[in-house]
Amino acid sequence: MVKADAYGLGAATIGPALRAAGCFSFFTATIDEALALRAILPAADIYELGGVPSGAERDVIAGGIIPVLNHLGEIEVMAAAARRFDVRPPVAVHIDTGMNRLGLGPDELETLLDERSRLDGLFVRSWITHLARADEVAEMNIRQLCRFAAAVAYLPDAATSISASSGIFLGEEFHRDMVRPGAALYGINPTPTRSNPMDAVVRLDARVLQARTAEAGTTVGYGATHTVKTRARIATLGIGYADGYHRSLAGEGFVWFGEVAAPVVGRVSMDLITVDVTDVPEHLCEPGTLAEVIGPHRPVDQVAREAGTIGYEILTSLGRRFHRLHLGGAAS
Ligand SMILES: *Cc1c(COP(=O)(O)O)cnc(C)c1O
Repeated sequence: MVKADAYGLGAATIGPALRAAGCFSFFTATIDEALALRAILPAADIYELGGVPSGAERDVIAGGIIPVLNHLGEIEVMAAAARRFDVRPPVAVHIDTGMNRLGLGPDELETLLDERSRLDGLFVRSWITHLARADEVAEMNIRQLCRFAAAVAYLPDAATSISASSGIFLGEEFHRDMVRPGAALYGINPTPTRSNPMDAVVRLDARVLQARTAEAGTTVGYGATHTVKTRARIATLGIGYADGYHRSLAGEGFVWFGEVAAPVVGRVSMDLITVDVTDVPEHLCEPGTLAEVIGPHRPVDQVAREAGTIGYEILTSLGRRFHRLHLGGAAS
């Protein structure tokens, strides 16, 4: 899954790395994302989850993109395009088994089962569904699995796909022919009730711009929300909410200097945060040194908890101003 620029991490680099690691099938959210990836991965299967708005079918077919069709209208659009361009385009069809979000609902599914000729001219590569509660042990997962199995048993034979990251860890019956992991690939814990089986692959450091002494009774930052109780050392780091350091981390977040944690104090600014580094050895925290914002001491899921959100939102909101290094994938 490389939608949203590979969860904000850079699909142009991560796509080829995944391909080199043996991944053949890629999913994006939009047609634009799919076409951009096609330019980089000429031979891969590239799916696009957002369907085909009328008028986009030519681009989808020309780009060799496999659209995931979400409703009967899109099936009709692609079937008509197949006749018009005299091709048999590959498609996937999404069956909604309980999300009420994307995919054929029960009524549309019944229509398709009665009128399978609606698929004439299309090459159905796969049937997919998506779980609503895969990160929990929930009976709903079994219900969705059964609904999906019952539907595809009566539909033309094609690969089937149920699971995103968390679903993979529900057991083999959720694996089917293809799985669609995103979050787990990027180090987010797919099993939130247990320890993370995945390696942390994202590290984010921020640079100290200034370190100063703040006297007792003075305040830090906008709104003077943090009052210094006893003489403290305050470091100002070059990262802010414009970089995806969520404003809700004010008073909640920590950064690390070596093995020492430092709390974020005062408000998060657009380009800056202020941290109390009184307990940090001075040589670790002077202008030019780096603090760990996400990394081994600050897993992305923990930063997300402190920000009141999920790891997905932390990664996808990472800003464009960071100097980015891709070190390549490595099995461990
Ligand atoms: C985003 C998405 C995925 C990947 O989900 P993760 O939890 O990141 O693994 C898989 N399938 C669909 C339909 C999605 O929208």
